[in-house]
Amino acid sequence: MTAHVDTLLEALPYIKEFHGRTVVIKYGGAAMREEALREDFARDVVLLKYVGLNPVIVHGGGPEISEHMDRLGMEVRFHEGLRVSDAETVEVAKMVLLGKLNSDIVQRLNRHGQPAVGLSGEDGTLFEVTPVANAEQVGFVGSVDRVDVDVLNHIAADYIPVIASAASDRGGQSYNVNADEAAGKVAAALGAHKAIFLTDVAGWLANPEDEESLISRATVAEVSERLAEVGGGMRPKLGACVDAIQGGAQSAHIIDGRRPHSLLLELFTDAGIGTMVTP
Ligand code: ADP
Ligand code: MG
Repeated sequence: MTAHVDTLLEALPYIKEFHGRTVVIKYGGAAMREEALREDFARDVVLLKYVGLNPVIVHGGGPEISEHMDRLGMEVRFHEGLRVSDAETVEVAKMVLLGKLNSDIVQRLNRHGQPAVGLSGEDGTLFEVTPVANAEQVGFVGSVDRVDVDVLNHIAADYIPVIASAASDRGGQSYNVNADEAAGKVAAALGAHKAIFLTDVAGWLANPEDEESLISRATVAEVSERLAEVGGGMRPKLGACVDAIQGGAQSAHIIDGRRPHSLLLELFTDAGIGTMVTP
């Protein structure tokens, strides 16, 4: 019994600190793939809202998009962590992100007792995108130049915003947007207190082959210095941590989404999990 009370007491200073604060949560990786983890995630986010935080969800859908492309006989390719996207790929990505994944997250949050609103970069002109620098290699991948938080502030007053990482430019061309990048930019634009990235590894690893090589803390300067040597999906994630902090977040965290309730453990316990990036 006292163990349960201790847990609650341990959480108290964190609940006080976070009350009324905005936390941007990038949802992806393992936590999005398994039914039990999807339910845990939804329940955790609902709990955050009930204890007075202001959670904002940003999600991608990498594996699920690849799976649908496979089914349609389309070739799946990545270049430096970005999905190589022709017009058809962007169309499938958008269908999966909005029609399936976004709607699934919204529905779960609703069901657990906190109404959510799904949106993408197009809604309320949330994201202004232009083609990424290496568009010649990757096609219609957009880089987020500006986040118009007006629509988010309206929604977040009453609902949990759930943002799919898709957007279009002024000419109406649709783009794929890396969800980590989008989450970092959203956190910066909102002046979020924290940004948390759920992924399918323990965190940033010094050696990507060795799960024991977790880097548990790093400053923005240390991340920036080593960013060029980081590959795959970890590079945009670390870049997003830097964006969030430069926008005023006190810390950004990359945590293991395979672990049930990793979000609550990170926010409300003294145990440091994953990688914490600080100014
Ligand atoms: P998501 O964005 O859904 O969390 P990604 O696949 O985009 O998933 O990014 C996480 C992946 O980055 C890991 O599964 C791993 O394969 C890859 N990666 C590359 N370098 C590193 C590194 N140094 N540390 C951790 N993961 C790394
Ligand atoms: Mg990724």
